[in-house]
Amino acid sequence: MEDPVPVTKARPGMPPPDSHSYSIGAAFILDGRRYPTLVTIIPMMPPRPPLSVVKLSDHFGQYVLTLKCECGHTRIAQPQTLAALAGWDALLVDVLRRLRCSHCGRRQCSATVRPEIKRDG
Ligand SMILES: [Zn+2]
Repeated sequence: MEDPVPVTKARPGMPPPDSHSYSIGAAFILDGRRYPTLVTIIPMMPPRPPLSVVKLSDHFGQYVLTLKCECGHTRIAQPQTLAALAGWDALLVDVLRRLRCSHCGRRQCSATVRPEIKRDG
């Protein structure tokens, strides 16, 4: 009668082929522990909510304004610069009305706000 389990030859210095030989990947199952499951990777930092600035002193003035004219001209502005002209208690909408584009001369400025400091360095 033939042996149903394929027998491999014992090699010198190694344990017999069929004694506790199993795949290293099956070790968790055979040891009675839970099989490691894949973990869903989530972004480490979710995107920050956009800043909203009503008064120039909001967020302690720690933000940067990107001013954009209807003609397409944009420039970066620090709130400190605007506060020196209008005061920290001035409303951003009022300050925007006063700004004049250096390219076309219009007073049609809109602003977007972003945090002053990058959080990742
Ligand atoms: Zn313009």
